[in-house]
Amino acid sequence: MRLNPIALFAMAAIAGAAPQSAIAEPKALIAAGYVDVLNGDLVRDAVIIVDAGRIVAAGPASETQIPDNAKQIDLPGKWLIPGLMNVHVHLGLILPGIQMLELAGESEAALALRMADNAYKSLLSGVTTIRLTGELKHADLAVAHAIARGQFPGPRIFTAAEIVSITGGHGTTLEPTNDGPYEVRKETRRQIRAGADWIKIAITGGIGTPGGGVQQGLMMPDEIEAAVEIATRHGIKVTAHSGSSEATREAVALGVKGIEHGYFLDREVLQLMHQQDVWFVPTMIVSQPATFEFFRRIGAPDWYMARVKEVGVDHWNAMKMAVEENVNIALGSDQFPFEPNDGTTATIREAEYYLEAGMSPLEALQAATIQPARMLEADADTGSITVGKFADIVAIDGNPLEDFKALRSLGFVMKGGHVYRNDWGDDDARTVPLPDEEAGDGHYHDPF
Ligand SMILES: [Zn+2]
Repeated sequence: MRLNPIALFAMAAIAGAAPQSAIAEPKALIAAGYVDVLNGDLVRDAVIIVDAGRIVAAGPASETQIPDNAKQIDLPGKWLIPGLMNVHVHLGLILPGIQMLELAGESEAALALRMADNAYKSLLSGVTTIRLTGELKHADLAVAHAIARGQFPGPRIFTAAEIVSITGGHGTTLEPTNDGPYEVRKETRRQIRAGADWIKIAITGGIGTPGGGVQQGLMMPDEIEAAVEIATRHGIKVTAHSGSSEATREAVALGVKGIEHGYFLDREVLQLMHQQDVWFVPTMIVSQPATFEFFRRIGAPDWYMARVKEVGVDHWNAMKMAVEENVNIALGSDQFPFEPNDGTTATIREAEYYLEAGMSPLEALQAATIQPARMLEADADTGSITVGKFADIVAIDGNPLEDFKALRSLGFVMKGGHVYRNDWGDDDARTVPLPDEEAGDGHYHDPF
């Protein structure tokens, strides 16, 4: 039986290992307003009632009864939006640079603990759901299960487990990996057996891969087809790391349902993606100048920076065309969701890029909330402030449809009805400071 994070959550509750979110005491969030991302409606002078982890009522104060036993959480002047989502994350990410040296020889146990720390920081930064797009040694599954069981705090986690890769392809080591349809089938099955919610394949080279062009289609059609067929038989979808139009066209024709990065995509292939309901996860932050400071901070080598700059302009044009062609876009950063970038987090800066590329504020907010939920087929449970869904809610200083930069003030995080962060209150929330940007401490801690 394959268990998604929501099923695990339910199981944990049944088993009595109740996560902190399965509360019995209702809570009332009282704020200046909330955004209904399903339709763009603004509800001013808002009250949201939360019970047993879910939203049980939401509306203007004049129409929303606060139960007598409810604990009131007052957020005067603040706006509530759904918890943010980031669907291209590697909690164990090590980019070329100083980290690679510092973390050389990291044990599996140390990796899992580092990933758990990154998961907690992601949650504190307002990201209540993530999808992992390639991790190692199934540490991601251990972390995801531990969070679902309430053993430590973190976002809801969907994961593609390990990347199904080919020898010499992006995301691989020097070891031979999978060549030909039979080996790809076996590897796909292995990941599904381990608990993958998605399958991630790498069909072209990548920025971080020294060999193999970003635009070069490296995975053969029969290998792509093998991954898609096995995944489809198990009821799950395949997403592809792709830098090129050609490789994307081929992959979409073979049934791939997600395209990651899309550094070079022409209008025709974007139209095809729109027609075929293929999701685009742009990860703009990996190629745009506003985030170069991040790469300098981690000591990225010259060859890496040269590749980043090489793809930046085309990547930006692909993003703008994707907005024009109404491609379904779900936010992914390919950096830690909380990673400091340009004065905010990677997740929020990524959403700002979407706005700059032509989305309306509502569309950019949807790309960070309900759209990823739809992509993950989790929109019955999360992705909007809707009665019946999990109380995954964050608060910011203003109405984001009027001032999108208000997202940068995010200071309150609730997941499943439990408050994990409240910069404006004095209640039971633990407030753990986010990594200090000045100290350049966003991603690495001294080895134990
Ligand atoms: Zn990635």
